[in-house]
Amino acid sequence: MADTIFGKIVRGEVEADVVYRDELVTAFRDINAQAPTHVLIVPNEAIPTAADVEPSHEPALGRLFTAARKIAEAEGIAEEGYRLIVNVRGHGGQEVFHLHMHLLGGKRLGRMLSG
Ligand code: AMP
Repeated sequence: MADTIFGKIVRGEVEADVVYRDELVTAFRDINAQAPTHVLIVPNEAIPTAADVEPSHEPALGRLFTAARKIAEAEGIAEEGYRLIVNVRGHGGQEVFHLHMHLLGGKRLGRMLSG
C-alpha cells in the first residue's frame, strides 16, 4: 500500500505533536483541530481503511480504544465526555488512507452529521 503522512509521523520522519505512543499505536494532535481537544490515534502498522481490517489487526484496533481512554483522561475531558470517529473511504470523508480514530472533546459537540 502507499505510504502516507501518518506513516511518516509514526516513524518520526515528519514532526507532529505526539501525545501518546506505544508499540501498537501513535497519537498526535490534528493540525486542523475541530475542537479544543482533537487527537488522531493511528495503528503503527498502516491499515488503509476500516474496510481493510483483518483479525490479525485486532490487538492494534483494541489499543486505539485503550489509548483514547488514557488520552481523554490526560486531557481532562473524560468526565464530560467526548466523541470517537473513524471515517471510511470517500463517502465517509476519509482523506488520509492510514486508518485513524479522531478523539474530539473539550466542548459540547454538535450534531453528529452535518451533511
Ligand atoms: P480524515 O478526513 O478522517 O481522513 O482525517 C484526516 C485528518 O488528518 C484531518 O482532520 C487533517 O486535519 C489531519 N491531518 C492531515 N495531515 C496532518 C498532519 N501532518 N498532522 C496532523 N494532522 C493531520
